Amino acid sequence: TFLLDPLMYPPLGALHIASKLLQEGHEVKFFDLRDYQMGVENLVVYPQADLYGITASTSGYNEAVKIKNTLKKIRRLVPVVIGGSHASVRPEECNKEFDATIVGEGETSIMKVIDGARGIVTSPIIKDIDTLPYPARHLLRQEARVSYNIFGGQKYSTNEAGSTVTSTRGCPFECSYCCSPCIWAGKIRFRSPENFVGEIKEIGEKYGAKRFKFVDDNFPLKKQRIIDIMDLLEPMDIQFRCHTKTSLVNQEVLEA
Ligand code: SF4
Repeated sequence: TFLLDPLMYPPLGALHIASKLLQEGHEVKFFDLRDYQMGVENLVVYPQADLYGITASTSGYNEAVKIKNTLKKIRRLVPVVIGGSHASVRPEECNKEFDATIVGEGETSIMKVIDGARGIVTSPIIKDIDTLPYPARHLLRQEARVSYNIFGGQKYSTNEAGSTVTSTRGCPFECSYCCSPCIWAGKIRFRSPENFVGEIKEIGEKYGAKRFKFVDDNFPLKKQRIIDIMDLLEPMDIQFRCHTKTSLVNQEVLEA
């Protein structure tokens, strides 16, 4: 499905970093290179950039290195930092290529990089994730701010706009085949129902989104919290899907 629609999910992680940078008073230009209408050649029309940041999963890592090499040919002295899941799982590999490699969540570490940190950069986790600004979706191209394919696959295509949003960071489980424990160290933090639903409301008001994919590793982790979220969502006329470990689902959760 991603091959058919690479913009199906907005790049939430990078948009979170962008919103943090904006909050701290920096100017940010954002390029989603999965977007066919973009291209690395467009990056260099912003030669005034003081720092380039790239996010990549493992499947996109080789492309990230190519982009870094292109940037370095044009602006050799400007640092290029990488974050995202591949950097968290294989920091030593990234450290050989990039000026800075951010491991784990990036909002605190990106500020350290701006202040001059280089090499592998880590930070303590942010305990209260309600303090983070909502992802800076407005930095995306107008047409890419929502997805018309948020539930994935032609069967579920619709004229209704949708988006991704997450109510937690991390997962308390440690499945051996999963990269989540490497990224989040088995720790989980929850947004308050009000903060989470506030973001959904904002996306609905600004972009008309009615369909949502909750991309938490495991959405229904605390039963009462789910009930509280559902109470807030009920008057909003939205549809959603979420990720979950099957053992977390029971009649009570489904009825909420
Ligand atoms: S429950 Fe899901 S997200 Fe958590 S470790 Fe297992 S596979 Fe990964």
